[in-house]
Amino acid sequence: MLVYQNFKELKAFIHLKKLEGKTIGFVPTMGALHSGHLSLIALSKNQNDFTICSIFVNPTQFNNPNDLATYPRTEEQDLEMLSNVGCEVAFVPMVEEIYPADYVSPTVDLKGLDLVMEGAHRPGHFDGVVQVVNRLFEQIAPHKAYFGKKDFQQLAVIKQMVKETNSPVEIIGCPIKRAESGLALSSRNVRLSPEGLKEAAKIYEALLYAKSRYAFNELTQVEAEVMEKISQIKGAELEYFEIADEHTLLPPVSSKCKVRGFIVVVIEGVRLIDNLGLN
Ligand code: AMP
Repeated sequence: MLVYQNFKELKAFIHLKKLEGKTIGFVPTMGALHSGHLSLIALSKNQNDFTICSIFVNPTQFNNPNDLATYPRTEEQDLEMLSNVGCEVAFVPMVEEIYPADYVSPTVDLKGLDLVMEGAHRPGHFDGVVQVVNRLFEQIAPHKAYFGKKDFQQLAVIKQMVKETNSPVEIIGCPIKRAESGLALSSRNVRLSPEGLKEAAKIYEALLYAKSRYAFNELTQVEAEVMEKISQIKGAELEYFEIADEHTLLPPVSSKCKVRGFIVVVIEGVRLIDNLGLN
């Protein structure tokens, strides 16, 4: 596997591959890789001649300095995992490479997709996400880029960003990979104790319950029942549970809307995010 730290060398490689007519798939990550990330790599490898995975803990998308400071960093292990699954290129830039002093990030109209849920609870988060992904897309210019539905709102924001900036990158949404317990895999899960992991699995149970109970005319009732279930999880603090239209991320306006339950629960100081299609 090739490992690059700067755009100049990475772009020289990409240029050669494009001259050969090869297609490039791109998987942006913040490292501390797990099989959720690897499922994105697998899909990209399936659909492209080459896959580039970036590992960059983007400081501008963290609104909580403690979360940034404690974000797990396991670069050596990550590179080994990527190499083992046959990822062709890893890109591991320093902050200065992504954000040179003269870099001006674009303003993108996200049509309000950035204002609800994660946007409301993590002010500035999506500005940081758009900033980093836009910079990576501009420099790497992949044919396709892969994002997990685990961060469903992020996926919606990136699709909107690509539309708004007329970027030719095709965005592929990938299924959520879960542990056997049902807990959505996340880099942050390593910060949970065995007991915390057990409790965290109940988040998915609550989402499944929401799905089993979902009816358009009983939204508030279902939301209240899910909140009640979460309140029974030991040490859990519910940040939000919202049932929203998949496209607008706002409350559904008719029974024809495709809806999802979106949830964030904090257990042992670890912020856990998940979502599930309800109809
Ligand atoms: P992160 O490193 O957390 O920024 O994640 C990098 C990419 O992997 C994002 O597109 C995430 O949505 C995706 N991802 C993270 N966890 C999972 C998972 N459990 N299943 C599927 N995709 C995931």
